[in-house]
Amino acid sequence: MMKLLATTAILFGIFATTQAFAESTEIFPAGSRPTAKGPEANFTGSVMIDMLYMNNEHTTNSGGLVTFEPGARSAWHTHPAGQVLIVTSGSGWVQEEGGQKRQILSGDVVWTPPGVKHWHGATDKNGVSHIAVSNVKDDKAVDWMEKVTDEQYLD
Ligand code: MN
Repeated sequence: MMKLLATTAILFGIFATTQAFAESTEIFPAGSRPTAKGPEANFTGSVMIDMLYMNNEHTTNSGGLVTFEPGARSAWHTHPAGQVLIVTSGSGWVQEEGGQKRQILSGDVVWTPPGVKHWHGATDKNGVSHIAVSNVKDDKAVDWMEKVTDEQYLD
């Protein structure tokens, strides 16, 4: 309704065209979205995904809390516009193709640039949770590839 009013106002020159028409602050309550299981095609082991927010007409990223049990990890993938991981608990690993596996701990922040092939997940002995802030480009935040083999994971 506010949008319609604003559009009408602009069309009829009621307000200066530079005036901003603010929308209302929105709260997405905890527990308002069901926890999803990380799909078998893109993850190994038990992974839970709590979507926190979606990109909208003003923003270009979406956020989700991802929780991996020990041994669980993503498949190899790239992000068309990059991704930030904010580790919220536990101990995990992140590895980019051709690089060493690196430990990530609660409080660590990880930036993966666009197009860099990588995976992330728990260590073999501890679970990990991270918030993934994924930039969206052309309606896509991730390009999934093959699974991380046990040999790659434990290397
Ligand atoms: Mn990633």
